[in-house]
Amino acid sequence: MTPSATATILDGKLTSQNLLDSLSVELGALTAQGAPLPKLVVVLVGDDPASQVYVNKKAKTAQKIGMLSQLLTYPQATSQAELLAVIAQLNQDASVHGILVQLPLPKHINTLDVITAIDPKKDVDGLHPLNMGLLMSGDPSACKPCTPAGVMTLLNAYQVPLAGKNAVVLGRSNIVGKPMGLLLLQENATVTYCHSKTADLPAVCRQADILVAAVGVPNLVTADFIKPGAAVIDVGINRLEGKLVGDVDFASAAQKAGFITPVPGGVGPMTIATLMANTLFLYRQAQSRH
Ligand code: NDP
Repeated sequence: MTPSATATILDGKLTSQNLLDSLSVELGALTAQGAPLPKLVVVLVGDDPASQVYVNKKAKTAQKIGMLSQLLTYPQATSQAELLAVIAQLNQDASVHGILVQLPLPKHINTLDVITAIDPKKDVDGLHPLNMGLLMSGDPSACKPCTPAGVMTLLNAYQVPLAGKNAVVLGRSNIVGKPMGLLLLQENATVTYCHSKTADLPAVCRQADILVAAVGVPNLVTADFIKPGAAVIDVGINRLEGKLVGDVDFASAAQKAGFITPVPGGVGPMTIATLMANTLFLYRQAQSRH
């Protein structure tokens, strides 16, 4: 029998809904003023089923809160030149405030070339090298990558202490791991990055007051990785025997952690809500330039 969980659940569904409600109020005020509305354009190339689910969720959420959104889908065989032409057009279009190219792209397209082609002022996922540089230098005008920014919102919502705490980030991708560590550092945590070559992963993780798993290996993080009372954030989304599971073995980890995110219902909804918040942020920046 599985003993009952003791950790406080960091409820991403609830926290993201609170964020979406407040965005909805802001968008309602803009509509009432007759102001132009923020617009998000999501570009999907190819037929990756997981990506299709994500982009549909994004478009649906935008619609729900009264934000303009457009989903542009292109076949797998789309050339890089064709995709770059689409981006150039969106860059020129003053009614578009946020551009998100859903990753991964098909193998024949160079991801960095595409991300670099997005106008940094419309780079809603904060992946353009300029925005990554701004994030690195702690500049508040940077649009922060949605998933790690969403994790920070969740930690703040539950008042998880960060300053002076040890944070361990498992994973060093540009989209999650690296910016996650930078955001925790900005909040004065002492940050350690782990990856596939890290020696004695459980021992390093056991130092963590905040442990973020963004690896893509189902149930890698077990109770043995966790310092009693730690905040455990599971970014992973994996399919295991037809079920959605994270990188953390929830049942055992929840016995030892102080706070823990479920999968689903943890980081996933925070990512989508943060995408909406980022679009509004870019819109406000664009308005202030006029
Ligand atoms: P990547 O594959 O780009 O990066 C994975 C990282 O994990 C790499 O740094 C890799 O190390 C490291 N790693 C892999 N295996 C191990 C291991 N056995 N031990 C220690 N480290 C390991 O993935 P992403 O960062 O894009 O995504 C990570 C997970 O988060 C995935 O499950 C993805 O689906 C999910 N995700 C969830 C989102 C959400 O909204 N909830 C949004 C984005 C992603 P190395 O660098 O050495 O190869």
